[in-house]
Parts: sequence; C-alpha cells; structure tokens
Amino acid sequence: MFRVDLRAAARAPVVTEASLAADDPLFADLDFVPAQAVRVTGRLSMTGPGRYYWHATIETMVVGSCRRCLEAVQIAIRAPVALWFTEDQEDDDPSVWVIPQRSVELDLGDPVREELILAVPEYVLCREDCRGLCDQCGQDLNVGSCTCRRRPDDRWSALEALRGRLPE
Ligand SMILES: [Zn+2]
Ligand SMILES: [Zn+2]
Repeated sequence: MFRVDLRAAARAPVVTEASLAADDPLFADLDFVPAQAVRVTGRLSMTGPGRYYWHATIETMVVGSCRRCLEAVQIAIRAPVALWFTEDQEDDDPSVWVIPQRSVELDLGDPVREELILAVPEYVLCREDCRGLCDQCGQDLNVGSCTCRRRPDDRWSALEALRGRLPE
C-alpha cells in the first residue's frame, strides 16, 4: 500500500515518497526478489478534472538468477517512471491507469510493482561471458569443464565417416 491523497493533489502537486519493505506482499511471486527496501520519490499533479500525472524514480537492489548458470545476481535498479491516471472509465489507452470515479485516494502500490517488473532486465547474466551449465550433466562450466562436451565432436566424426562410405 502506498496511498496518496488526491484531494491534496487537486490543490497543488504533492510529493510522493515511500520506502516499501523488500518483503512487502506487493513484491511476492516475482522472478526476482528485492534485496533491500524499494524507495520511491516523485510528484503527483492533477492535469485536468479526474486526471493525474505522476513522475517518480524507483530505486532498489534486486536479486535475480543468471539465465545461463542460475547463479544469484544482484542488479541495481534506478527506474524513472511517468504515468497517467484517469477517472474516465471509457479511456482505453493501455498506458493510462483507470481509477474509480471521485477517488479521494490513489494507491500507487500496483503501479510501483509493475514498473519495477519492467525495470528488471529480462535476460540477466552474471557476466557477459558466462559459460552456463552443461546441458547434459549440469556442470557449471565457469567452474570447470566436463567430459560430455566432446560428444558433439564424436557425432560430427560419425557423420563424416558415414559420408565417406556414401557413393559420390
Ligand atoms: Zn552465469
Ligand atoms: Zn557435461
């Protein structure tokens, strides 16, 4: 929960600040976990009747896992956010959040969750040249090689041998 008073925003832009705990239910069931509180700073302004604009920065550190070797990777997040909210129930612009009419409060929790998901890279690597895990025995190839790596070569030479036996 990260509530902002919209009546105050109707009078003047309001400062929106929050530090959402890493174990807040908002951040449950994601592909990553926040390693520290999710800090949000920003301003919410009313841009017209029932329309609001929020710009903010979301900062935290998350832990994801390397797509190649599954090693835990810490990722620093600093995401600028610019969102519009409207009470117009007919507004079908997917980038605009539709909120109930005559709202007196706005909960920025879900927008923060969504923006954080967008900010975390989809393809996390522990390092650019991560060699990943062997797809046959699961050996972490950053740590050491395994014997099954020669198999593709064996297959290739078997094919070569077969080709030698085929009529030209
Ligand atoms: Zn890796
Ligand atoms: Zn292997």
